[in-house]
Amino acid sequence: IKIKVTKIDVPVSVAAAFEGERVRKDTMFAEFGGNKTPAWELVTTGDLAELEDHKITVIGPDIDDAMFEDGKTVRLPLGILVEVAGKEMQKDFETVLERRIHYFMNYIDGAMHVGQRNTVWIRLTKEAYEKGFRLKHIGEVLYAKMRADFDNVVDKCQVTIYTKKEDVEEIYEERVKPIYVQRDDRMSALTDESVEEFYTCLLCQSFAPSHVCIITPERLGLCGAVSWLDAKATKQLDPSGPNQPVVKGQAIDERLGIWASVNEAVATNSQGAVEKVTLYSILEDPMTSCGCFECICGIMPEANGVVIVNREFSDVSPVGMTFGELASMTGGGVQTPGFMGHGRQLIGSKKFMSAEGGLERIVWMPKELKDDVAERLNKAVKEMTGIENFADMVCDETIAIESEAVLEFLESKGHPALAMDPIM
Ligand code: SF4
Ligand code: ZN
Repeated sequence: IKIKVTKIDVPVSVAAAFEGERVRKDTMFAEFGGNKTPAWELVTTGDLAELEDHKITVIGPDIDDAMFEDGKTVRLPLGILVEVAGKEMQKDFETVLERRIHYFMNYIDGAMHVGQRNTVWIRLTKEAYEKGFRLKHIGEVLYAKMRADFDNVVDKCQVTIYTKKEDVEEIYEERVKPIYVQRDDRMSALTDESVEEFYTCLLCQSFAPSHVCIITPERLGLCGAVSWLDAKATKQLDPSGPNQPVVKGQAIDERLGIWASVNEAVATNSQGAVEKVTLYSILEDPMTSCGCFECICGIMPEANGVVIVNREFSDVSPVGMTFGELASMTGGGVQTPGFMGHGRQLIGSKKFMSAEGGLERIVWMPKELKDDVAERLNKAVKEMTGIENFADMVCDETIAIESEAVLEFLESKGHPALAMDPIM
């Protein structure tokens, strides 16, 4: 009999019931990441002989010895390094464990966790602080949950939390980013055609009961955190878990991306709420969106293309709506033709709404997002159409937001979408 670590030594409750809790500005005590400070999280495999189980270290100021920014809120950089080791541990499992950080942190009464990798955004409440919650307790929770939920592969786990800006930035460049890049490179070598099965992801059904993500090599989960390799690893780690294979079989329509097997999996797993989805169209039966998508794309009819807005962008987009407004009409597990939640990585996938003309339809993105995806986007568009530096043709908020000015910019650049077939 395996003994599970269940007692967690922290001054607040930790339970799945707290998962949906948001921490608003007025109840917040401390904040990390979310574009305000550098922050990242990483799970990596260490040496079984060298790791010290249950070693939790905080390097840098804690929330009670940091400076207040505005008399009320503490803002700190944050790097969360979780090192695990075990005889059965495999490198492919790291990303699966890393994604669980999101859930484990949200189980903490008084904590909110959004995003992943170096886009994390974490808030802690004043109440949790007053009960004595400190950064080492994040380590305690992650340690206990990693050991409990992954006891089949994790024999040792140690957590290091960095809060000095120079550490967070330096370790990111030297150790963390190269690992993210390596993972992405492995993934980008795979195509939808090169595999026999796709995977479902049902992790978000706890708050969007009819939502099913279909994960393919060229289309990661819309939270941006579950790639096809992750889904495959999860199936290995947890055979009856949230990711189940969907054996592709013959496509009904390759252009739209329709498979009988996919429709069946979606219908069954959504309890009949959604009967069919396409994988490559945003107009015909697009995939549903839960609530944690990194981006939303939506049609801008007058530009004959789409705009993409990421979660971090708070202004109004050229379609007249903010991310939040777009999210409220797109999320919750419903199909909204013309709008779709997706991961950042999809911008750069040759399957991005390929039924409607693909990446060349992108006419506007916030600058931060555009800079982030430019390299992959340019490479994919070049390979598909020969167009160089496509990202330069895409408008952003520093150029224009208002429809007419956006159109003017697109015309001045000779944006390909203007010459394509009408989008609708
Ligand atoms: Fe899974 Fe999709 Fe939710 Fe990501 S958004 S956790 S892929 S169901
Ligand atoms: Zn989700």
